[in-house]
This record gives sequence, C-alpha cells and structure tokens, in this order.
Amino acid sequence: MSSQEQTILVTGGAGYIGSHAALALKKAGYNVVILDNLSYGHQELVDDVLQIKLVIGDTSDRTLLDQLFTTHKIDAVIHFAAYIAVGESVQEPGKYYSNNVASTLNLLSAMLAHGINKIVFSSTCAVYGMPKEVPMTESHPHNPLSPYAASKDMVERILSDFDTAFNLKSVAFRYFNACGADPGGLLGEDHDPETHLIPLALLTALKKRDSLYIFGTDYDTPDGTCVRDYIHVNDLADAHVLGLEYLLSGGASEVFNLGNGNGFSVREVIETAKEVTGLDIPAIESDRRPGDAPILVGSSQKVREMLGWNPNYADLKKIISHAWQWHQQRHGEVKR
Ligand code: UDP
Repeated sequence: MSSQEQTILVTGGAGYIGSHAALALKKAGYNVVILDNLSYGHQELVDDVLQIKLVIGDTSDRTLLDQLFTTHKIDAVIHFAAYIAVGESVQEPGKYYSNNVASTLNLLSAMLAHGINKIVFSSTCAVYGMPKEVPMTESHPHNPLSPYAASKDMVERILSDFDTAFNLKSVAFRYFNACGADPGGLLGEDHDPETHLIPLALLTALKKRDSLYIFGTDYDTPDGTCVRDYIHVNDLADAHVLGLEYLLSGGASEVFNLGNGNGFSVREVIETAKEVTGLDIPAIESDRRPGDAPILVGSSQKVREMLGWNPNYADLKKIISHAWQWHQQRHGEVKR
C-alpha cells in the first residue's frame, strides 16, 4: 500500500515535536489525523498551518477513541501526547503517571480492539539517568530519576510486554534535546511555561525576559557548564517517518536513540545564540538545577544503520537560526 492510502493518527500533534512530525508525514504523502486535548498544543497551527483534521480530546477518553477508530481507518499511531516537565513531575507524580502511563494504556487497548498494532512512541534519554558512559547507546542501563522519566520507561516496558502478549509492534525513540524549528518558518517551539535553554535564550534576546540563568558552572566539563546533545526537530520528525515506514513494512519492535552525537555546553549555546541574533543575552551564573547530569550525549549509530536516518541540521548555529526565525515571527519584533 502506498503512503497516499494510509492514515496515521498523531496524538499530541498540536504540540512542538508532534506538529513537526505531522508536517513531515503530510509531505511524505500520508493522510494524517491529529488527536490533541489542546492543554498545551496550538489549535491555529493545526487548522491554519498544517491544515490537518484535528480531533480535540484526550487519550484517556475510550469512547472518543472508539469513535475516532471507527470513523477513520487508522493504519498506525504516532504517540506524542504526554506531559514533559521534569520538575513538575517531581511535585505532581500522579499527574504524570495518569496522563503518560494510564492514558497510554487506554490508547493501546483501544488500538488493539480496532485491530491497530503499530505504534511509534516518544521516549526520552532521561530513561538512562546519570550516564555511566558517553556517548550513551541503547544498551545503557536504565535509572529514571524523575516521575517523568519513569513514566516513559514504564511505557517502553508496557510496549514490550504488549508485543509478547498481543503482537503490538512499536518503535520507541529516546530523544536527546529537541530544539530548532521548521526551516520554512511554519512551525516552532512555543511552550508555556518555557523551561528549555534555547527558547529561553531567544526570548531573552527579544527582551521578553530580562535575563537567563546558567544552572551550574562547576560541573566537570570543559567550561564548567552542562553539555547536551541538541537535535533539530525536523531531524526528529524525519526519524518518525522512517520509524513508521519500518513498522508498516513489517519491522520488529525496536528502541532507538535520537541525538546528533555532538555535545554543546550551556555557555556555547548562549554564545551561539548571541552570534545568530546579534543581540545581547544577559546570563546570570546560578546554582545547579537538581537532577541535571553533567553530560548527556547519545550514540545514534543504531538508527542510522537500521533506518538509514541521517540528521540534516547537526550544526548548532543552523539549529538556533531556525529557532530564531520562528521566535521573531511568533514573539514579535526586537526591542533594542
Ligand atoms: N539550562 C540553563 N538555564 C535555563 C534552562 C536550562 O542553564 O534557563 C541548562 C540545563 O541545566 C541543561 C541545559 O541547559 O544543562 C539544557 O536544559 P533544557 O531544559 O533545555 O533541556 P534538558 O536537558 O533538561 O532536557
């Protein structure tokens, strides 16, 4: 069956990574239906930019899922819908286990009841906890340090058990630091509240914030600040299309890291953001953020070899330029 005849349900498709993946699927010729409860997603991006069918609702709603799977003949699901704030998950663990685990179980059981047995799942490198080796491979031991990370780890386990019991085939992608924006300027990152380094740096450049905090300058890293593997959201989106094609052509369940293999420090990110924007970004050195590992860099050799994935935008300057293009457009003109 060609992609033109296949319909993919994207949960959380009004959110940051989900919207970019929905655009990539549309460009690859798939029919796409988005399910999003709009708690954090942006309806106007789905309706006006993506022009994709949006079902407003929650993955916890079995009646809605039954209706959706009856109305649309869904061939596979890409499941992004989840809460993502690590700090909040420590304060409100029940919220995370309920939405990220229980609602996913509800989705899986509805899928199986309607004969759908293929799912691509958004996981995270946070399932590994503190790195024992860098770059981390998929065989690195798991030690999730927050309810958020544990919720993703639990779903990975559930997917594996559901394969054994019900022949559910899954691809789980463990993302490193998703960032950047659609190079065409159509989509980008817009979280409220924003907690991520690159958008915070750009919002500071735009004077939407007075300053940025550097969380920790005494790590055992070259410049004392944390090192992360920043991966462009379009490269993530492309991987989801490849993961989907792999499952649709009969692939077995797999787990893949998605990072670009290069580490950049917090200071390097801020310096690059200054260079890209040509603006000042006042940064205040402050205490470490609890739970941060000094270095998180992933090996993506497996996804390159098995799915033929190759990141197009591994260059940090390029990543930040795309994010900057989006931020200026979304968050207004620069006040100098
Ligand atoms: N960070 C920072 N100041 C901020 C936000 C983040 O110094 O205002 C640091 C954070 O400690 C981490 C890196 O930037 O080392 C990336 O953090 P982010 O929250 O973007 O992603 P995470 O690594 O938590 O997934």
